[in-house]
Amino acid sequence: MSKKAKKKLNKILISLFLFILTAIYFTFLEEPINNLLNNKKGQAEPVSLERKELSKNTIDIHYIDVGQADCILITNKKQNILIDAGNNNDGQKLVKYFESLGINEFEYVFATHPHEDHIGGMDDIIRSFKIKKFYMPDVVTTSKTFEDMLDALEEKNIEVEIPKVDTKFSSLNAEFNILYVGNDENNLNDSSIVFKMTYQNKSFLFTGDASSNVESKILNKDISADVLKVGHHGSKYSSSVSFLKKVNPKYAIIQVGKNNIYNHPTEETLNKLKKNNIKVLRTDIDGTIILSTNGTNIEFRKVETDTNG
Ligand SMILES: [Zn+2]
Repeated sequence: MSKKAKKKLNKILISLFLFILTAIYFTFLEEPINNLLNNKKGQAEPVSLERKELSKNTIDIHYIDVGQADCILITNKKQNILIDAGNNNDGQKLVKYFESLGINEFEYVFATHPHEDHIGGMDDIIRSFKIKKFYMPDVVTTSKTFEDMLDALEEKNIEVEIPKVDTKFSSLNAEFNILYVGNDENNLNDSSIVFKMTYQNKSFLFTGDASSNVESKILNKDISADVLKVGHHGSKYSSSVSFLKKVNPKYAIIQVGKNNIYNHPTEETLNKLKKNNIKVLRTDIDGTIILSTNGTNIEFRKVETDTNG
């Protein structure tokens, strides 16, 4: 082989090697978030994960589109945990959603704090499913929604528990740590239960509507997480820079309603997330967002929903 031909062959081999390397990178390493986000709107079913099944021991976290409100389901398809239950008129929709997933009981239900956009559908949930443990902060309010929830709890003989700060428990083969529980009746948002779920190498932080005031109180705790549920629907009163830096999430989920009157999420918060290189997913844009993790990777799906409002 001539020197020139050898050089040419080398060049071809190097190009081929680089091409294969790039292909491997995009197939295996990059989380398929971009593909999923580019999916056309209007699909009713989640994008199938079969093509790239994580493993059998997967936990799914559904950030359900309930408009300007919060509702999060954590499930490993055997056991389930619920965080908040949307607005009043989301109750029956949520019951149907959970029934369609074959759910008939919850290990834990968290009512992060007693505002309507977090406990609105809770009475329907309580009446429709078996609940083993019901957590809420030690605050009461006089709203009808709150009374409806207490009535349903009484009807079903469910005892309310106030979780203690720094309590740890295992469920769904994951570890849970209660980071904060407030009891300020004049500030229900800052009474929110804040907690972290760790499943092997991946962790998720749930913040309710806690403001930067609460964030500053837990800065010295182990709050680092791969995924942050952005506090208070992305309002400017949450997501302080020091908090974002300490959590250092890769992804931020904002549960927020289309054209809401509060102008959530605020530009201020979105800019902070952007500056810290945090990828943002929003229920007003993406619909219901489902994260799946096997403890090593996190994948995303989204489901077009009609609960926005
Ligand atoms: Zn809220």
